[in-house]
Amino acid sequence: MRARYKGWWTWWGLSGAVMAATAVMVAGPVSTARAAEPVPGDRSVGSGAPVEAAEIRAVVVLVVLEDPRPGAAKFPEALVDEVEAALARVYQVEVRRLARRPLPRSAFRVQRKRYRADDLLAYLATQVPAGMPARTRVLGLTTADISTTREPFKDWGVFGLGELDGTAAMVSSHRLRRKVRDAAQVRARVVNTAVHELGHVLGLDHCEEPRCVMLDAQGGIANTDESSGEPGPACQAKLDRVSPLRPAMLRSAQ
Ligand SMILES: [Zn+2]
Ligand SMILES: [Zn+2]
Repeated sequence: MRARYKGWWTWWGLSGAVMAATAVMVAGPVSTARAAEPVPGDRSVGSGAPVEAAEIRAVVVLVVLEDPRPGAAKFPEALVDEVEAALARVYQVEVRRLARRPLPRSAFRVQRKRYRADDLLAYLATQVPAGMPARTRVLGLTTADISTTREPFKDWGVFGLGELDGTAAMVSSHRLRRKVRDAAQVRARVVNTAVHELGHVLGLDHCEEPRCVMLDAQGGIANTDESSGEPGPACQAKLDRVSPLRPAMLRSAQ
């Protein structure tokens, strides 16, 4: 099954036979805007309706996968709003929200009480509704601990996982809640991790640009906390090359 995917990138390195890249993650001010930047002349500006950009890079389905275990934390709806706003602002993607659904039991690993991130990505790809445009991506959010293989560790807990130039990415707030100053720092970490993992799906590797959102966390949280939350110039140029803006008329009618 792993062979179906080109690369499994995690904050803490690559899994399997792929060599880990390094980087530095950052966390500058995080936008709390509810929609993309207004487009001059856009008919919906000021109307309270969602802003519809003239061009988008892709459609991204956003869905919370809830931890069904008794007493499990809920992923805050306001934080989903923040993630949506950041993805729209940073990548000019059109975000479609799906109803929350439980984490699939098949991805649960009883021994470590964690969900297998690789299995969750495969599951997420099946959740993209019919009728969505070709190359629609999907990002899952959860409070449950998720893990993947990072040799020699078969079950390595991660902040997130994204399929390089693929379809699906996953973010877990479980480890991002550790040793935090305040709730705002948790939110910034979750948002930056979501931007990072979706960056992989849109075709961005790890890089070494200062404060670029695509820096590898290198096994710690410092780079995430110091991130600008956006791609640096080199990553932005690559993004424009591999996932260019295209007329939004390609968006689904849904
Ligand atoms: Zn990464
Ligand atoms: Zn970069």
